[in-house]
Amino acid sequence: MYADLHIHSHFSDGILSPKEILDEVISTSLESIAITDHDNIQGSIEAQKINRRNDYDLEIIPGIEFSCLENRQDFHIIGLFIDYDSPYLNETIDVMQKKRIDSIKKIVKFLNQKNINISFKDILSLAKGSVGRPHVALDLINKRYANNVNEAFDKYLSNKILFNIREPRMNVSKAIITIKKSGGIPIWAHPNIKDINFEKNLQEFIVMGLAGIEVASPRYGLNRQEIIINVCSKYNLLLSGGSDFHGFHKGIDISSDYGIKHKEFIDIKKYLNIKK
Ligand SMILES: [Zn+2]
Ligand SMILES: [Zn+2]
Repeated sequence: MYADLHIHSHFSDGILSPKEILDEVISTSLESIAITDHDNIQGSIEAQKINRRNDYDLEIIPGIEFSCLENRQDFHIIGLFIDYDSPYLNETIDVMQKKRIDSIKKIVKFLNQKNINISFKDILSLAKGSVGRPHVALDLINKRYANNVNEAFDKYLSNKILFNIREPRMNVSKAIITIKKSGGIPIWAHPNIKDINFEKNLQEFIVMGLAGIEVASPRYGLNRQEIIINVCSKYNLLLSGGSDFHGFHKGIDISSDYGIKHKEFIDIKKYLNIKK
């Protein structure tokens, strides 16, 4: 594969630094990647700097991932080729970062009331960019309430336990508009094509300005890929994709397997040029 356009660094909920990610990437056949942290562009910016400074000779595509809520369903929208300096993008990121902090404070308060003595300050010190539940999990592990991240989520941090405390999400239209106003290409990440409303949602998102779908993701089997490819040609959408790598702990590699081919990558770049 040519490009992996969905990777997380330690600036959101990934484990590796941008430098460690680039060191992994150069041992693969990949020529291009996008670091697409949740509500955060620090990792993407850092990867570009390291790439230039150390002559990795990769193409780093600016990226971000937004969590969305629409019709009471969760969706993830990725922005590729966004302008890091866009005021509109940075304003949206600031709002989401504040909401993330509020949500973590609520989780700390909720667990403190159950005599789980974690602290917001300690959690924040574990986060490099976007603070989230994985950082609460680390604090729970540090304070011996759990042995590992999975146990911390099962015992304290699942949606069922935290009920109405959710990580912040925005409308899909807000995500798409933010990405487009920042010069980027909005992509629907890992869509659930088994959802009965899949095509109806897709049509709505296209009206909002959606440009593509992730065809390659470790979450689909190969038969699903074929369906997505057909849907993309029906609606004239771009094919994107990537590993959604967060670290090796999830058994997923930054690899050649879940990226996109050169032709699909070229189509994305052509779209960008037409748009300009
Ligand atoms: Zn996602
Ligand atoms: Zn992701």
